[in-house]
Amino acid sequence: MNAIYPGSFDPITLGHLDIVTRGCRLFEQVTIAILRNPNKTPLFTMEERIAQIGEAIAHLPNARVASFDGLTVDCAKSNQSQVILRGLRVLSDFEMELQMAHTNKTLAEDIETVFLATSNEYSFLSSSVVKEVARFGGPVDHLVPAHVAKDIYQRCCAPPALNP
Ligand code: ADP
Repeated sequence: MNAIYPGSFDPITLGHLDIVTRGCRLFEQVTIAILRNPNKTPLFTMEERIAQIGEAIAHLPNARVASFDGLTVDCAKSNQSQVILRGLRVLSDFEMELQMAHTNKTLAEDIETVFLATSNEYSFLSSSVVKEVARFGGPVDHLVPAHVAKDIYQRCCAPPALNP
């Protein structure tokens, strides 16, 4: 059975990577599907996120990365996936995730959403937290893969005149 793991991944964190790693033990193939969201202005472009994730999963032979826009269930179908993989951190994630899972079930009856509980050490971690810490000059090396931390420092901590 294959799974897609959809999300914004702006940028990928160690919490995301933990879910992918554990997903790779459960499924034949896990496709990290980066959502193209026209309503959000991301810190990293789609191409940058694909490169960051590609490097972060290079050691996982059954993980791959792709971009998508449109419905998550259509993304699952086009990637020959029967499962939508999502991570659950805290109770507040649950309501929205359950709503999405139910909605997706009405759109594609044969696709299941599977939730993995976050590993304890990452329960506080989100891409937004990482960006917030970096914006105020704090360290993020313990929150994201090393090459992503480097990208973040370049993007967030450069002198204002150098920022795009
Ligand atoms: P979205 O904007 O769709 O929530 P994210 O990139 O923020 O996209 O997250 C993608 C998925 O990864 C979601 O299911 C989210 O709950 C999960 N996730 C994010 N951070 C963590 C974490 N620290 N531990 C476990 N799951 C996580």
